[in-house]
Amino acid sequence: MNNNGLPFDIEKIIEDARNELEKITRKDELEYWRIKYFGRKGVFAILTSKIPELSQHLRPEAGRKINEAKNLLNELLQQKKIIVESAQTYNDTGLNYTLTGLKPDYGYFNPITLVSRDIVRIFQNLGFGVHTGPEIETDFYNFEALNMPEDHPARDMWDTFYLDAERKFLLRTHTSPVQIRVMEKLKIPFRIIAIGKTFRRDAFDASHSPVFHQVEGLMVGYDITFSNLKAVLIFFLRELFGSNVRVRFLPSYFPFTEPSAEISISCVICNGRGCQTCGFSGWIEILGAGMVHPEVFLKAGIKEKNITGFAFGAGIERIAMIKYRIDDIRQFYLNDIRFLTQFE
Ligand SMILES: [Zn+2]
Repeated sequence: MNNNGLPFDIEKIIEDARNELEKITRKDELEYWRIKYFGRKGVFAILTSKIPELSQHLRPEAGRKINEAKNLLNELLQQKKIIVESAQTYNDTGLNYTLTGLKPDYGYFNPITLVSRDIVRIFQNLGFGVHTGPEIETDFYNFEALNMPEDHPARDMWDTFYLDAERKFLLRTHTSPVQIRVMEKLKIPFRIIAIGKTFRRDAFDASHSPVFHQVEGLMVGYDITFSNLKAVLIFFLRELFGSNVRVRFLPSYFPFTEPSAEISISCVICNGRGCQTCGFSGWIEILGAGMVHPEVFLKAGIKEKNITGFAFGAGIERIAMIKYRIDDIRQFYLNDIRFLTQFE
């Protein structure tokens, strides 16, 4: 025995204590161990109490050795405590419910959703109802009822995804078919908007996407004029882009409206002075609109002569790109969380 004349083998005590500690997996076991060594009647308390019984010259050495052992084992105890406390529950359930919880990351709205909600809110405040229509359409609703018979040159404006060889079914190229469906269904007068996906055989590049979103509007009644169209659209654009935007109407052509207009706002980036976004013109084209063509009323089964109305359409992505200054349409569809979190 090599204990330098001391009546106890401190190395053996340390070794035993370490071995016991090693096997401990539970908190209650650890507490028993702590009491066994560090308790009021524990191993170290007993050893310390025996120091005065030793001969004078052995006392300092005994005291020092006991203190070293206490310090060492106390350090091991603290380490074990951390391990046991964080790992204990794995043994019972496989889950560690003592760990701090992970904060769940919540979802963000795509700018398309944010813009769509803005548009819906503005038009609902004007008394417009919100309608939807099918994304798979027939040739009749997508083209023919909108005054574009089979040989109409305007059909070239839309590169269409046909779903069958007879070209009866297609993915709608615009939200305008909703106009026809609503006119068949609703009692005049009415005012509605429809927001939804539209499809064209476009390349997927910075300014084109084969799937995109449109908002369609239609107001039909007995005394609707171009002035109503102007008033509603100017109000809409100022609500959406700010009260100081200027709105410009230029004559245009659509098969389903007559007269037709192309509507621009003063560039929100350069305030009309001219920049890259507006092609240095100071204006950004944002809407197509016009008075509903009499042929369209007839196709929708409306035969009364004194009924008029206006219709308009706009691309949601285009509005979102201008509003949030996004320069690549693909960003809306990549689902990159770093992009989406910017528009909370
Ligand atoms: Zn500009």
